[in-house]
Amino acid sequence: MANSYLVEPDVNFVKQLKTMGGETLKKCYQCATCSVVCPISPDDRPFPRKEMIAAQWGLKDKLVGNMDVWLCHHCNDCSTYCPRGAKPGDLLNAVRAYSIQKYAWPSWLARIVPDARFWWLLLGIPVAIFLFILGVTGHLHIPEGEIEFAHFFPTLLVDIIFVPLATFWIPLVFGIGIYRFMKDIHANAVAEGKTRRKELNVPDFLKTVICTLPTILSHNKFSQCSQNKGRYLSHILVFFSFLGLFVVTNIFFVALYILRAPGPYPIFDPIGITTPVKLLALVSGIGLLVGSLLMLSNRLKDRGENIGKGSYFDWSLILVVLGLAATGLLSWFTRLLHIPSLAYPIYFTHLVFVFCLFAYLPFSKLAHLVYRTLAMAYSRYSEREPCE
Ligand code: SF4
Ligand code: SF4
Repeated sequence: MANSYLVEPDVNFVKQLKTMGGETLKKCYQCATCSVVCPISPDDRPFPRKEMIAAQWGLKDKLVGNMDVWLCHHCNDCSTYCPRGAKPGDLLNAVRAYSIQKYAWPSWLARIVPDARFWWLLLGIPVAIFLFILGVTGHLHIPEGEIEFAHFFPTLLVDIIFVPLATFWIPLVFGIGIYRFMKDIHANAVAEGKTRRKELNVPDFLKTVICTLPTILSHNKFSQCSQNKGRYLSHILVFFSFLGLFVVTNIFFVALYILRAPGPYPIFDPIGITTPVKLLALVSGIGLLVGSLLMLSNRLKDRGENIGKGSYFDWSLILVVLGLAATGLLSWFTRLLHIPSLAYPIYFTHLVFVFCLFAYLPFSKLAHLVYRTLAMAYSRYSEREPCE
């Protein structure tokens, strides 16, 4: 006997998807061209046609927790060939944005981060915290003499703010999100017959995470797309630049607090670019700037008939990454030129962008880095794709 399925449409969900970039979803007439042209979709239960009908019917349980939504790399091959201009690539992007909000904790912050009405509040929080801390510690002024950022915003104060964000806040929020996400992904896969494994075995799953890493590092899924090839370059530049900056930050942290390296020490040379660590920081900063500018230009070029203009959720991340890279490089450059009246305010702004990136990361589009990795690993765990 065929399995029965109780259809429970959620009209509000459809409305939300429309406001998040899926406004054309009702145009779909189920021709399946999108599933045929998608270079990433597996032969078994291909996407995104089935996701389009689920979205039209407001079947939230078929979309949130659906690993296929995360396997999509938003290359828009499907949207380019869709004969109805239904923009399935944008619809999947909207479902991912909705899912990030649903899985994140606390829910009030998950609601306001992607809401354009609150950008001033999100930027105002770090500005107020920094001004307060600098005020009470007597650092709220431009220091005299050689430009030294630590004389303006002492390293210890920077670490008191950012270390808890990086070591406690981000792991906590992502930990809760990952737990909810994996529970849903597995339940959905079992219900949809995408896996024969009834239980989620964590050690086995972690092995598939490891075997997924080469695909992520090489970005080879992106390179399979025929439209939007530019996204591959911008994405890989931003990805490896963040990786470079992560390495640099950790080297500084280990040298400062674990090795307690005495100064002057080559890696602390703040201006010279002859030291490997500083050179890596500079190359990563330039990579981030170029990558985010490419993302911006791709988005502006994409605003055509078949590909949507993107939502505030997409644009806000690009602007934060661009702001982060530009202020990082400008603070270094204005320091080289000995312009304290510019260098210190730019450095302050740079720290505001760093705060925004760290504090709001699990609620922003950047969270896809974690959720897509897990979904790609789950696809291998469920044996829909082989482990390379
Ligand atoms: S989204 Fe477009 S290509 Fe895909 S099934 Fe609907 S009409 Fe066809
Ligand atoms: S946007 Fe690209 S990866 Fe996503 S469904 Fe369309 S063709 Fe496939």
